[in-house]
Amino acid sequence: MDHVYDLIIIGSGPAGLAASIYASRYKLEHLLFGAENGGQMNEIYEIENWPGDISVPGKDLIGRFTAHAENYGVKVQRESVGSVRKIDGDIFEIETAHGKYQARSLILAMGAEYRRMNIPGEKEFTGRGVSYCATCDAMFFRDKIVCVIGGGNSAAVVALELTDFAKKVYLIHQEERLSAEPLWLDKLYANSKIEVLKDNDVIEIKGADKVEKVILENPVNDRTFLELDGVFIEVGTEPGVRLARKLGVATDDGSYIKVNPDMSTNVPGVFAAGDITTGSNKFRQVLTATSEGAIAANSAYKSLKLK
Ligand SMILES: Cc1cc2nc3c(=O)[nH]c(=O)nc-3n(C[C@H](O)[C@H](O)[C@H](O)COP(=O)(O)OP(=O)(O)OC[C@H]3O[C@@H](n4cnc5c(N)ncnc54)[C@H](O)[C@@H]3O)c2cc1C
Repeated sequence: MDHVYDLIIIGSGPAGLAASIYASRYKLEHLLFGAENGGQMNEIYEIENWPGDISVPGKDLIGRFTAHAENYGVKVQRESVGSVRKIDGDIFEIETAHGKYQARSLILAMGAEYRRMNIPGEKEFTGRGVSYCATCDAMFFRDKIVCVIGGGNSAAVVALELTDFAKKVYLIHQEERLSAEPLWLDKLYANSKIEVLKDNDVIEIKGADKVEKVILENPVNDRTFLELDGVFIEVGTEPGVRLARKLGVATDDGSYIKVNPDMSTNVPGVFAAGDITTGSNKFRQVLTATSEGAIAANSAYKSLKLK
């Protein structure tokens, strides 16, 4: 049999890197795989809610996380894990384009991606008016006009959150009916800063250097536009659970990995951390991802060494 590591961490965003730092300090012999090192943090223009840094570019902070993890001798393997399976009782085997690796435990930290709309202008203006995270970016739109695209609870919450800063918030939904809970709908309609536009499809985001308008399609006016400064896209997230499913790891209705308070899953030896899980009350942030990573490493250590 090939060499068997104590632990393999899949995903080198904040959750995976924090898990690696703790695993190293517990002297767990481990490997860390990250298809795109840093994950979503590469997309954060400025993080303003990481304690100790009033404002820091996402790329800088993830660079420091990576240097910290690698300082302990673990090199991030910049490879995608293509498959994972259980072999010989308690041993897991993962496979990348470059080989197979075995370990006695796994931490799944493959994150989640904000669902994109894939409309013209969306990618071009991400970070320049287009945002997927109101908690992160709302304050950049003080006294500005913004829209939220979506019709569920998260879109409603984001629209309300934005009214603390923006002077006007459009909530744009492509269907006639919003799926947000009635309580949220009451709050939306009671807020004079919010205007709900139903039955409207945003088909393009336009501007010069930054967002200036969205093009809408609706059955009444056919095609029209709204001048604004910011577009918050709230059409859901997609967790990267393909590998987890192959292991029989249980997920919730939204495909997030169900975790216990110690970040263990229903499969013994498999832990999960970060945006991919139901943990941290589903509050998906760098801070919560790193703490889940730390807890997962601590639990892996306990399960391997303190049995
Ligand atoms: C635009 C934007 C702005 C944001 N702003 C903020 C902010 O200001 N403050 C804040 O706290 N949070 C912010 N967030 C949220 C924050 O980035 C996430 O909560 C956090 O990155 C989640 O960390 P994670 O490690 O769980 O997942 P991710 O960051 O998604 O990392 C997942 C990792 O897994 C890897 N991976 C996936 N599948 C595989 C595979 N099969 N094999 C190998 N590797 C794999 C990916 O390449 C990546 O390295 C923002 C997010 C976005 C998109």
